[in-house]
Amino acid sequence: MAESKTVHSPLLTYFSMLSLLTLCPPFVILLWYTMVHADGSVSQTFDYLKQHGLQGLIDIWPRPTATAWKVIACYAAFEAALQLLLPGKRVEGPISPMGNRPVYKANGVAAYVLTLVTYLGLWWFGIFNPTVVYDHLGEIFSALIFGSFVFCIFLYIKGRVAPSSTDSGSCGNVIIDFYWGMELYPRIGKHFDIKVFTNCRFGMMSWAVLAVTYCIKQYEVNGRVADSMLVNTVLMLVYVSKFFWWEAGYWSTMDIAHDRAGFYICWGCLVWVPSIYTSPGMYLVNHPVNLGTQLALYILVAGILCIYINYDCDRQRQEFRRTNGKCLVWGKAPTKIVASYTTTSGETKNSLLLTSGWWGLSRHFHYVPEILSAFFWTVPALFNHFLPFFYVIFLTILLFDRAKRDDDRCRSKYGKYWKVYCEKVPYRIIPGIY
Ligand code: NDP
Repeated sequence: MAESKTVHSPLLTYFSMLSLLTLCPPFVILLWYTMVHADGSVSQTFDYLKQHGLQGLIDIWPRPTATAWKVIACYAAFEAALQLLLPGKRVEGPISPMGNRPVYKANGVAAYVLTLVTYLGLWWFGIFNPTVVYDHLGEIFSALIFGSFVFCIFLYIKGRVAPSSTDSGSCGNVIIDFYWGMELYPRIGKHFDIKVFTNCRFGMMSWAVLAVTYCIKQYEVNGRVADSMLVNTVLMLVYVSKFFWWEAGYWSTMDIAHDRAGFYICWGCLVWVPSIYTSPGMYLVNHPVNLGTQLALYILVAGILCIYINYDCDRQRQEFRRTNGKCLVWGKAPTKIVASYTTTSGETKNSLLLTSGWWGLSRHFHYVPEILSAFFWTVPALFNHFLPFFYVIFLTILLFDRAKRDDDRCRSKYGKYWKVYCEKVPYRIIPGIY
């Protein structure tokens, strides 16, 4: 059984699945509508809904058009081709609960650079104008909502009839299987890893592509790009560049190594990332706030610093694990706990837990700079409207829940060793507070 399945009760799973199915799709559409057609004002959209009720929502819900499907199909096919065809170093993922070791091709940076160069090239040479994407955004989100749901049904059926590895199986409940997923590493053929595609090459890549799209749209409408939009776009691009630079490291995090490919993670990456994660930029398109050079630079530098610290936390942990603790952490030999655990196949293995550096401040300190980075690329929108800050609030809730989920999982994996770690590093996220 997937470890993720054990951390939430069936009742909570039903509740979160029902919420995802019933609340998230209209939320994505309402957020897009508010940003693009209601001046970013939640109260304007609220008044509209109060006046027109459910029919009002149906009226503003864009139907997926041929253009929307074409944009999605071209983008997905391009990204899939890059994932399959670009050369890259062979990278081994962490040992799975069933004792398998998935192998990946690390070609994320090349795919990222080629995607942005191609997109900007198409615009520059007048072959495809990115404003088409912005102008059809509602239809694209609508198509993604529907298409991703169908894709998740495919994942469920594939997990049942043709799993790619022994890291798969049912927990005996169809709804939980569909929601949390059947397979840990589903693949098409031997080489095409579906989670790398959904999470990295479709989801995270769309973040960069849409950030550039919003910038170009503002330029085409106003003839210039406001400094607020520049700060937002640069910070988002630095963040996504960092992600692809570290992509092989991502393959050993919870999303890939513990969460199975189901509705929760795949629908989230295919729909929620392109729509919600990019939303501060979507807001700025028709709110060209001018910050002034000095303030813009302060925000930019603070944002880059947070992205760097977040990167360094992940790097420190991975370097420590890779060298088996034989590295320097903040200039000194690291302090550690040797934690043993038993795999599902009954083997006893050891893991090292770092208790110094960033990982000695709190057990999930890396979430602090993650949340602050999001704050810094949102704050150029200033405080006239609440909606641009939705992503920061959502991320804070997500990461606090994730920290709990991860702690629960590690407690059941490492038992008494995790207890020793918690005694040594007592705070979960914010040192001295929580
Ligand atoms: P990680 O999976 O990278 O880290 C947690 C894991 O690391 C644990 O499950 C455990 O795994 C291991 N571990 C825990 N404590 C220690 C320690 N002291 N020393 C060594 N290993 C330890 O975390 P996340 O996947 O949550 O985060 C990865 C990155 O992704 C972060 O930068 C985060 O901010 C970002 N992120 C962004 C999100 C977004 O939506 N923007 C959402 C989630 C994450 P093991 O079983 O191997 O021991």
